[in-house]
Formats: sequence, C-alpha cells, structure tokens
Amino acid sequence: MTQTISLLARLIDTLAPRSCTMCGGRLSITEEVICACCNHQLPRTGYSKSAYDNKLVRLFWGRIPIEKGTAFFFYKAHSNTSRLIYQLKYGHHPEIGECLGRIVAAELAQEAFFDEITAVVPVPLARQRERERGYNQSREIARGISAETGLPVLDKVIERISFHGSQTQKGRWERNENVEKAFRLLDASPLNNQHILLIDDVITSGATLVAAAKEVLKGENTKVSVLSLGFANNE
Ligand SMILES: [Zn+2]
Repeated sequence: MTQTISLLARLIDTLAPRSCTMCGGRLSITEEVICACCNHQLPRTGYSKSAYDNKLVRLFWGRIPIEKGTAFFFYKAHSNTSRLIYQLKYGHHPEIGECLGRIVAAELAQEAFFDEITAVVPVPLARQRERERGYNQSREIARGISAETGLPVLDKVIERISFHGSQTQKGRWERNENVEKAFRLLDASPLNNQHILLIDDVITSGATLVAAAKEVLKGENTKVSVLSLGFANNE
C-alpha cells in the first residue's frame, strides 16, 4: 500500500518528531502511537482463533450468557503493555485508544470475528470521572473499531453510576459490591435483537464487564460478546 505523505506532514514530522508510546523511539511518518517493531512484539492472545472457547471467555461462563470474546494482548504490570494502557487512561492520550482500536479491528476482521456482531457498546465511565479525564478510553477504542468495521457505536444505552469516595480506598468486598451495581440501563430499544460487542480497556476479573453485560442483556433477544485491549491473565 502506498501512502501519500503531504509536504505539511513531512514538515510537522521534522519540527515535532513523535515518539513511540511503548519504547520511546521515534515514530516514522507513517506510524501512529506505537512503532511497527513494538506492534509486532505485542504479546497477542490469539484468542480470536477460538473466540467461543478460550481463557477469557471462560471467565464469564456461569456468570452471564456470553457468545464469544477476545483480547488484543496480554497485559502485564510494569511492562510495555501497562505503560501503553496507563498513557491511554491517565496520560491524556485518547488517540491511543482510537489507534489501537483500528489496529485490533483490522486484525480481527481477517478472522471474521465481527461477522455476527451488529453494534459496539463501550463500557461507560461515571460522569464525574469522565469529566475529570476528558474522555472515556473505552469509547475511544470503540471509535477506532467502528472506523475500521463500520459497526455503529451505541453510547447511550447504559450508564455508570458514580459512587462517592475513591474505589482504591475501599475494602475489596465493598469494591466488588460497588462493581455489581455499577451500571444502569438507560434505553433498551437500541439493544433489541442486537449482538452487542462490549468494549473495555483491560479485563482482569471480568467483574466490570459482567455487571455491564447484565444491563445490556435486558434488551429483547440481545446477545453479548466482549473485546478488550488487554487481558490481565493473573494465573
Ligand atoms: Zn516502539
């Protein structure tokens, strides 16, 4: 594929070189967010090859009726992958989400992952949290997936209820309790007869997605699948 690079783009690249979010190396003019080398080295899960039965999907069995699921890469603390997610969530870099959304969607499309999916729903942030952050990282990922696949983003079907106080200051039990009741259905009608792909940045225990999926599944004849960038596979 040949890419036409405008003179202006070349000039900007010379004046303000951009660096790779993972390795810090200089990005070439055709690279976005991560360099080709880091992209190549991302520890991909490969779960899309067995999207109906893999370690991530099994997390949800017995908790919600789930169709299929995958994650782009394995997420590890204190590694390049956690650095990437940290920059996406806390580094004021929403473009990381959109870019990685496009990359993962292009790869998954080759494996027909999106064939039965009819719409994507990003896991919402509580309004206050989103206001502080300026964006919802999951929506940015969904935006990239939508740009690549043409699937619509349903953004107003569920909302996240805000709890007072910081989650991190609470005990584990209280936190789980909060997560279970963290979402509320706003409008079921766009969900009826849809196969929804729920989008999150990182899946760890699955608790957040279970809670969100329960609300989405209140739609009539609604199916749910899940996709995240990272999978914190702790075993
Ligand atoms: Zn790099």
